[in-house]
Amino acid sequence: MYNLVSPKVVKQLMMRHGVAFNKGLGQNFLIDRNILEKIVEAADIKTHDLVLEIGAGIGTLTRELAGRAELVVSVEIDKRLFPILDETLSDCPNVRLVHGDILKLDIENLIRENFANRPFKIVANLPYYITTPVLMTFLEKGLWFEVMVVMVQKEVARRLTASPGTEDYGLLSVAVQYYTCPTIVATASAKVFMPPPKVDSAIVMLKKRVAPPVKLKEPEVFFRVVRAAFGQRRKTLLNALAALETGGGDKQRMEHILRKCNIDPWIRGELLSLQQFADIANALVDCNISF
Ligand code: SAM
Repeated sequence: MYNLVSPKVVKQLMMRHGVAFNKGLGQNFLIDRNILEKIVEAADIKTHDLVLEIGAGIGTLTRELAGRAELVVSVEIDKRLFPILDETLSDCPNVRLVHGDILKLDIENLIRENFANRPFKIVANLPYYITTPVLMTFLEKGLWFEVMVVMVQKEVARRLTASPGTEDYGLLSVAVQYYTCPTIVATASAKVFMPPPKVDSAIVMLKKRVAPPVKLKEPEVFFRVVRAAFGQRRKTLLNALAALETGGGDKQRMEHILRKCNIDPWIRGELLSLQQFADIANALVDCNISF
């Protein structure tokens, strides 16, 4: 069978099928066996596992997953790659290819049809132009995945795992850390892809939390507070929150609420931990403040 991590083989396959790499679709295919194995090992695929892959490409990662899992469902947007995939995955009966845009498909339905009610794993060498919307879609929909192992841009990996008070800490860090425990498994230089992207990359493992790390009275209020704090990064926490209060803010009341939570109103939002954001959100709910 094909050695899909060989640049020569990749080039020949693409040429024979008359397909050129589409940069706009983030088509940087893996050509490094070591990194491929690191992704699959991090996902710890067992024979009974159900896997969702985003972006099959020419089937490099798909084949590795299919060799270990019970079923791999792989979504690929580029129709031109399907004749190649028919060839490279011809000996993988446990792969189902789905043509479509992962952000536009009815994901709940796709998962129900393929995986019924069983938990599944998400493994992907993500197209970088849609990293954040893909992550947020899967997290916010509350889909029952156990773990997500994804290759992302190195700087995105830093944001996902960032701690309060660091430059990389932001809305994405809080949202991802609310739903999952993220860790960086390995970093990868641009050379592991064909063609090489302009940025370095990292494999990130996002383990879904069984229970949220903080108790929230109304999760929407928590996310509104976080968005407000990071949306106005240069403002103090007090000014950022007061400005966004529905119907115009009462700064004094907001200051009182922050002090009651033992939070200095004059700090910037990026210093707050998940627990502190939760304390503010719960206090706002208790005081009946619409936010
Ligand atoms: N899995 C392959 C690998 O590791 O070599 C390919 C990874 S490549 C970085 C990303 C793949 O995602 C490309 O094949 C691209 O066509 C596909 N893709 C891009 N946007 C997509 C979308 N919105 N929905 C599904 N697939 C997409």
